[in-house]
Amino acid sequence: MPNSPLANPSATRAVLERHGLALKKSLGQHFLIDDNIVGRILALAALDDATPVLEIGPGIGTLTAALCGASGAVTAVERDRDLLPALGEVMASCPSLRVVEADAVTVRTSDLETAIGPPTALVANLPYGVAATVVLRFFEELPSLRSATVMVQSEVADRMAASPGGKDYGAYTVKLRMLARPAGRFAVPRTCFMPPPRVDSAVLRLERVDREEPPALLAATARLAEAAFAQRRKTLRNSLIAASGLGSARIDAALKATGTDGRRRAETLTPDEFVALATALG
Ligand code: SAM
Repeated sequence: MPNSPLANPSATRAVLERHGLALKKSLGQHFLIDDNIVGRILALAALDDATPVLEIGPGIGTLTAALCGASGAVTAVERDRDLLPALGEVMASCPSLRVVEADAVTVRTSDLETAIGPPTALVANLPYGVAATVVLRFFEELPSLRSATVMVQSEVADRMAASPGGKDYGAYTVKLRMLARPAGRFAVPRTCFMPPPRVDSAVLRLERVDREEPPALLAATARLAEAAFAQRRKTLRNSLIAASGLGSARIDAALKATGTDGRRRAETLTPDEFVALATALG
């Protein structure tokens, strides 16, 4: 039994032809045509009947059909209304699937309820143009979300999973890592998609990190990280003075209080060190 009846080239082509669909590059429409990859996504996502799932960009329903078989209920958010008739076919055999026609960047999180509650798992082959934004947004704005298992461009997976000190580590990494940590990854060849993308892909699993700090402090930490990385080649102190708007006296006091050497570069600070600095800045 395949994980998804659509995860092969002939079935995908047949659906596209039957519905007269032309693929839209602008919406990142690269559909999965490899059932083995669908199975590996399911294995990494580790779903069960009690897991309410959120899928972004169901497309013609390739991954959706597999998610319906592996989880209790799915809400799928698709921006391209031309795909809804094809998704209707998937819904016919998956009564607990809700399709929401919306942009994942702006959809209200209160509209994402599944039949068994708010989503706890995000599982998606994401449109690459908005992947980084969408993952951070749902960890920030959907408190029920415990994990995300997402196909993204491999460079984006590198940024999401980067450790301090490397070129991929930046303000985005710090913001995401305050909320979630990487917990598994595999590479996906370009030939697994129709049409094949021009970039390499990877599936990354992220798991929520429960933090005790109040949301306001995490938001202040995010702003501080933006300022620290605004000019990567400057020292931490100079970058913060130039971009945070907080004034050199406050910056120096916070660096001193936390024992942080202001001559360091932003990319050497761990997320926890950014939190400590934001705390010291009040
Ligand atoms: N899930 C399908 C699969 O794995 O074959 C399709 C994945 S395809 C990479 C990305 C999907 O996201 C497309 O169906 C596209 O129309 C949809 N999409 C693009 N931008 C979107 C957005 N901002 N919000 C919701 N869906 C979007």
